[in-house]
Amino acid sequence: MGSAVLTGGSLSLDPAFALANFGEKGTGIRALKTIERGSEIISESPFIRFTHPITPLSIRHAWDRLSDENKQRFLSFTSTIPDIDDRFVNIAETNAIPLCVPSSDESAFDEEHAAAREGVSGMFKTICRVNHSCEPNACWTWSARRQSLTLRAIRDIPASSEITASYIDDLTLARDGRQKMLFDNFGFMCCCSSCGNSAEEVRKSDQNLARYQELRLRIAEATDVLYKSPGRGGHVHTILGDVHDAMNILEDENRIEAKGELRMQIIFLYAHTGNRKATVKAAKMALRHFKATIGQEGVRKTELEEWIRHPDVKSVGCVTVYIDLKCYVLSASVSFAP
Ligand SMILES: [Zn+2]
Repeated sequence: MGSAVLTGGSLSLDPAFALANFGEKGTGIRALKTIERGSEIISESPFIRFTHPITPLSIRHAWDRLSDENKQRFLSFTSTIPDIDDRFVNIAETNAIPLCVPSSDESAFDEEHAAAREGVSGMFKTICRVNHSCEPNACWTWSARRQSLTLRAIRDIPASSEITASYIDDLTLARDGRQKMLFDNFGFMCCCSSCGNSAEEVRKSDQNLARYQELRLRIAEATDVLYKSPGRGGHVHTILGDVHDAMNILEDENRIEAKGELRMQIIFLYAHTGNRKATVKAAKMALRHFKATIGQEGVRKTELEEWIRHPDVKSVGCVTVYIDLKCYVLSASVSFAP
């Protein structure tokens, strides 16, 4: 039997992680053993919820209703956003996570959209301790159906390394853009493996990411023309070349989550060529990516699994994939050769 370790206030056997001190960054979470890509690290419900905008009055009202333990827990979090004088509001704005990521049924999805519109967020006793990295090894997704937030490994995490996630949506910005966003919204200068590199390394990385942005725009424009004119698939292989170049940049720069959009484009580009085998293979790779990032529950919404099970249908039809709040509806009406 493994040893019992206290993790974030709850007792568990052989835990995969523990709270740890990371110097200037403060408290964070360390892997205690190797965590495989796609594994669920922890799932938890918020101990406090907020409706935005958070005001000194609304936050005290929410705090008053907490247990003594949770009151103390709330106050143990940092308040680092510049220009917010009220400590309670600052703690909430610094640490709260939006409750708005994909779930499995439509009603839950509507609920998520409603929650996002109203700006509902929450604080979690363990997941809110996860520090930011621009090359994260984990990500979280909210399930409205289960009312819980799940932290999942998006790549293999070696034992004793820090578990990190992204606090911002677009990690494909250049370093200065990411730094500004992180400072304005969370009050810290990022010193992650990507931002803390030598000036030469940062310049190279910024160049790569700028090239990715160019490719992304070019791919979007080209696929838009293609999908509007079925049968005009002459440029598919050129676009696929751009998609693979963009994918290589994301791989080199460790921007794993951003690959989902490209994975979906590969499916539909192969579908346009009429090559069923290549399309199914691309769909399986996309499925693998989404299982590791948004989890099995999120994957059900992509309809990919279902389509892979019945690839005999003549048309790919319309496959919808939700990534965070962005809804990608990609359609291709093609017929595969019998
Ligand atoms: Zn960074």
